[in-house]
Amino acid sequence: MSAAYPRDVSRVIAIDGPAGSGKSSVSREVARRLGVQYLDTGAIYRALTWAVLERGVDPTDGGAVLEVAGAVTITSGTDPMNPTITVDGVDVSAPIRGDDVTAAVSAVSAVPEVRARLVALQRERVASATSGIVVEGRDIGTVVLPDAQVKVFLTASPAVRAQRRATQDERERDLVRDVQETESALRARDAFDSSRTVSPLAAAEDAIVLDASNMDFDQVVARIVELVGTVR
Ligand code: C5P
Repeated sequence: MSAAYPRDVSRVIAIDGPAGSGKSSVSREVARRLGVQYLDTGAIYRALTWAVLERGVDPTDGGAVLEVAGAVTITSGTDPMNPTITVDGVDVSAPIRGDDVTAAVSAVSAVPEVRARLVALQRERVASATSGIVVEGRDIGTVVLPDAQVKVFLTASPAVRAQRRATQDERERDLVRDVQETESALRARDAFDSSRTVSPLAAAEDAIVLDASNMDFDQVVARIVELVGTVR
């Protein structure tokens, strides 16, 4: 496992947390400021889910999902200014954010053998990030990179997360969301992700828990950059 680390070991930063906590935008900005790479592991699970749905496969059929996982090549670009994700060379960055993928991704990512395969892929990406990397997800500090030098569990109240997600969907995707419905959907996905047997959403024992309910974006980014500074 230690072979999966870049040489400058102070620069492996794990950021986990529930849906809508602001992980993605915070992780990208932290990576940009530190001049390191960025890996969105949720996008990888979403890319596989997109491939599953494209093929008409039932996302709750673990065996069939695993077959798809073995048949496709998922590639993530790790530039925080322009993170990319492809399935067999096809850019899926937009469709993986669709509601159909969001609704099915928790079932796909609960299949243990699927996780084993995708965790191996994630560790490969980390190993090739020689200048360091910020990795965001649900199980990065607990399972994927338990030796990461900085582990953050970023959270916020469900109401705040739902409001932020609705605002973001409106701004970036021109979608008008009902905030109550958004909150119910986030809570349902969190409950599923937190209760699965393999690698549930959880804070690592040695993670710093940051509750961003009353912090703005810049404060959260500054706090994480500061934490990284303390382990150099
Ligand atoms: O981060 P994002 O909301 O895009 O993640 C989508 C889904 O992918 C999560 O709800 C979870 O089911 C799964 N996931 C996971 N482990 C990770 C990252 C994401 O199971 N490390």
